[in-house]
Order: sequence, then structure tokens, then C-alpha cells
Amino acid sequence: MKVMVTGGDGYIGSHCVLALLDSGYDVLTFDNHSTGHIQTSENISGISTEGRFLGTFSGDLLNVDDINRALKENDMDAVIHFAAFSQVAESMKRPDIYYRNNVCGTMNLLDAMKDHGVDKIVFSSTAATYGEPEYTPIDEDHPQRPINPYGRTKLTVEGMMDDYDLAYGIRSVRLRYFNVAGADSGCRVGEWHDPETHLIPNILKSTFGDGKEFELFGDDYDTRDGTCIRDYVNVEDLADAHILALEYLVNGGGTDFFNLGTNEGSSVKEVFAECEKVTGKKIPLKIKGRRPGDPAVLVADNRKAKEILHWNPRRTLSDSIRTAYMWEKKMRGN
Ligand code: UDP
Repeated sequence: MKVMVTGGDGYIGSHCVLALLDSGYDVLTFDNHSTGHIQTSENISGISTEGRFLGTFSGDLLNVDDINRALKENDMDAVIHFAAFSQVAESMKRPDIYYRNNVCGTMNLLDAMKDHGVDKIVFSSTAATYGEPEYTPIDEDHPQRPINPYGRTKLTVEGMMDDYDLAYGIRSVRLRYFNVAGADSGCRVGEWHDPETHLIPNILKSTFGDGKEFELFGDDYDTRDGTCIRDYVNVEDLADAHILALEYLVNGGGTDFFNLGTNEGSSVKEVFAECEKVTGKKIPLKIKGRRPGDPAVLVADNRKAKEILHWNPRRTLSDSIRTAYMWEKKMRGN
């Protein structure tokens, strides 16, 4: 079975490509490398896996010809779609590029799938489609009222996918991620953003004694220790969920959507303490004011993914920190 992975060179995409290859799928990645990530092509080519790595198609979702050629030349059976812009703050400053890339790009992809008879897609959606939580843990019935353009682009695509299923029979699984963390346990790929905004890599970057203090954004929230609570799901567990979602579609499952989280929240202070424990280092810390747009608590109710996809996230926060630290050291040549 041949799967095209858009954004397959990015953080989550590259882990999913590895999981697909390790599960015996043949994989083509489709990427425009706009964020500078080239993880799959650089780190995966040549390694031994069950499935075949068919290479990277350097193309852009805004160029319909690129998508047509990638699907046609390689005779794809299904698509897993990661390629998107994903920075909330940036989306507020540049909604134009977010709508163009995330919404128009996905529409081009769905149109090309329709034209080439590819009828299965697994899509990276996000907890940001829920907006400010009305209750936690958040289940899939929670209202979707995104509070920023990034979340709205993902919600728009979710609606588009319902319509393309009704009209053209393209079935989709939308996976709504909570906070993704960690790296491949074999240290083949990992997280590397520039600039880095995420909690765990930012704490870990402050362990290297180069004078960079970790900045904690807000300790006056209405939570157990005053810092924000998030649900950190391990990236390898997340990648496994994509394989299960694909199998669900291959076995005839209908369009659906699932939260991917752990049902458990950790506060920023708890994550920080776990990072000190895992690294064995005292990490310099500075308490700053709140970061605009951060809800106090975001925790997933993941029962639907467990029941229907038979997903069983098993890696702990400590596992995620340990693998992220291994990766950070590798990237620094330590
Ligand atoms: N955070 C922090 N310092 C950082 C990065 C993040 O205190 O350098 C906090 C952030 O304010 C939020 C939590 O860590 O409360 C998770 O942030 P992240 O950006 O990793 O994920 P988000 O939940 O925003 O998608």
C-alpha cells in the first residue's frame, strides 16, 4: 500500500513516516521545505525498514500540477496530510498566508485526490479548533469555536472534508492533537523549530549552560500551582494513531474525528521539575508574565480514539523528555 505524506519532512510528519515504513507501508513524502525541515530525506533515506521509502517529492500544495504529478507518477492509495503553518501568534499577524496555505492548499490536495481516485485521507487537526475550553477534559462533542486564525483554518478544512466525503466519497479521519512532545526513541528524527516556541524544547535548551534562562509564562493562573496545564502526548504514540486511523479507513471506516491526548494534564512547573529530574541538571528559570492567548487548562478526553481506533498511548511525559533531550544533544553534536 502506497501512502503520500504531505509535510513528511516536518516534526510530526517525519515520525509518522518512520512509523509507516516500520509497519510495512511504502511512503512518498511531499514537502515544500518552507520551514527548513528536511528530516525525512536526510535521516531516513537508506535506513532499513519494512516498507519502501519512495523519496521526497519537492512540491507545493499551492501548485496543483505538483500534486497531480506526485499522485499520478506514484499511484498513491492514501494521503496523510501534515503540511500546514502552525504558529498561533504568526497566524494572527498573517491570516492571509494561513488561509492560503492551510485552506487553499488542502482544497487543491482534495481536488487532486478526487481526480486521481484517491479516497482516503488522515488529517492533522488540532485542539485549537475547540477554542477556550468550556469544560475539561475536552471530548469531541465540545463546541468548536477557535479563537485564532490557525484554529479557524483547521476547522474550515474539517468542514471541507465532510463536504468532499458527501459529494465525492473521499473519507477522512481528522486527528485533533493536544501538546505533542518527544522524539524518535532511535534518535533518527526529532523536533527542531526556529524560532522554538514549545515548552519542552525550550526548557531543555536552557540546560546547556549558555546563559539562556528558561522563561515561564505566567504563574498566576487558577490551577493547582498557578501555571498552565497541558496534555503532553508522545510523538511516537501520536504517529501510531495515524497508522491506526489509516487502517480504520482501509477497513472501510467512515469519516470521523478523534482527540489525541493522554487524559492527563501536567503544569508548566511539573514539566520543568521533570526536565530537571531527567537531565539531572539545575535549570535556570525566570518567571515572566502571561503569554497572550494561553488558556489555563487544555486536557483531552481520549476515550473515543481508544474505543474506535484501539489506540493505546503508552509513553510517559518522562519518556518524551528523555527522547527530546537525546535529540537536542544530537543536534548540538554532544
Ligand atoms: N511555555 C512557557 N515557556 C516557553 C514555552 C511555553 O512557559 O518558553 C508555556 C506556555 O505559556 C503554555 C505551555 O508552556 O502554558 C505550553 O506551551 P506550548 O507553546 O508548548 O504549547 P501550546 O499549549 O501553546 O500549544
